[in-house]
Amino acid sequence: MKLNANYDNIQNSYLFVEIANRVKKFTAQNPSADIIKLGIGDVTRPLAPCVVEAGVKAVEEMGRAETFRGYSPDSQGYDFLRDAISRYYAAFNVKVAPHEIHVSDGAKSDCGNIVDMFGDDNVVLIPDPVYPVYLDSNVMSGRKVIFCDSTEGDDFAPLPDKNVKCDIIYLCSPNNPTGAAFSYEKLKAWVDYANANGAVIIFDAAYEAFVTEPDVPRSIFAVEGARTCAVELCSFSKTAGFTGTRCGYTVVPDELCGGKFAKMWARRQSTKYNGTSYIQQRMAEAAYSEEGIRQCRENIQAYQKNANLISGVLESMGIYHTGGKNSPYIWLKCGMPSWDFFDRLLEKANVVGTPGSGFGKNGEGYFRLTAFNTYEKTAEAMERFKKIF
Ligand code: PLP
Repeated sequence: MKLNANYDNIQNSYLFVEIANRVKKFTAQNPSADIIKLGIGDVTRPLAPCVVEAGVKAVEEMGRAETFRGYSPDSQGYDFLRDAISRYYAAFNVKVAPHEIHVSDGAKSDCGNIVDMFGDDNVVLIPDPVYPVYLDSNVMSGRKVIFCDSTEGDDFAPLPDKNVKCDIIYLCSPNNPTGAAFSYEKLKAWVDYANANGAVIIFDAAYEAFVTEPDVPRSIFAVEGARTCAVELCSFSKTAGFTGTRCGYTVVPDELCGGKFAKMWARRQSTKYNGTSYIQQRMAEAAYSEEGIRQCRENIQAYQKNANLISGVLESMGIYHTGGKNSPYIWLKCGMPSWDFFDRLLEKANVVGTPGSGFGKNGEGYFRLTAFNTYEKTAEAMERFKKIF
């Protein structure tokens, strides 16, 4: 037996471990310090009431012989949820048919599993800085990965370089970690590039619900030409607070590879996955009902209020940053190495964030703050921030 040697090439993800270690050491030396965490990448507000109600009802159905359900008839998802997702897209004028939607237990799984669709000799293009799953899942399968620099020069929303040849492109908008989002025009440039090169775009729309600017597409399928070159990953995690509940979906348009991609993805999922639980799917359906969207929006608006606050303080201090407008992430230029800034912020303001260098080489000198704490704590953290910088 030989183990997969590609795993030796995965970089150690020491970022969050190192953050925890430094915070632990600081707290041991300063036990009375009131630490505020603006590094949280997870939602903190509870599920919407109508989602909870749907979950309770689904559990009760499972407890009665006449409504009990075992394996779902289709591992791609129940019709009631695929229909609800299709209607959700239609509300922002994007046409996605229910059969093009494949329900899963989250965008991270789909992101890791989608690599099964591609031959090993494809070249993968990944922007730097990046959500590490794109890189690690391709390194695990031994693919050649090249990077596209995402920098302040393009406000962390890079354009394709026509001289670079690649087969698989990962794009995330609104972006984690930079919070930057592609305008329609920039995303169209990527769609045109992919179509011209016979490449596929894996578009991660996990933060689409945070989009506020009219020029920023919430789905790549709002862009003309995307149906022949893109797959979209999306999630209920940040839209409806499902990080612990787990539900996501991937949209594969009929036109991609003449329909073969959708068939292969359905085959892959039905071979290796037995479907998302009925209870989760009922909860997800409730999140995308009219009332659910309204209730989930209240949570998103609370995070957006925090993001606006952080962004407003940075603006008033003349600190360059991206994000905040269409995203719960704010990516600021810290004017020193990212880890030095981390230490300074922790020691002087007792505030914890995430060093940008942990997301790739172009993250060095940048720092990520997040909007997932309470408004009061966020306001207090930014007051302290103002005093020390
Ligand atoms: N994609 C991005 C860009 C993310 O930041 C995250 C989670 O933080 C995910 C996907 C994972 O989503 P899920 O919880 O649906 O697995």
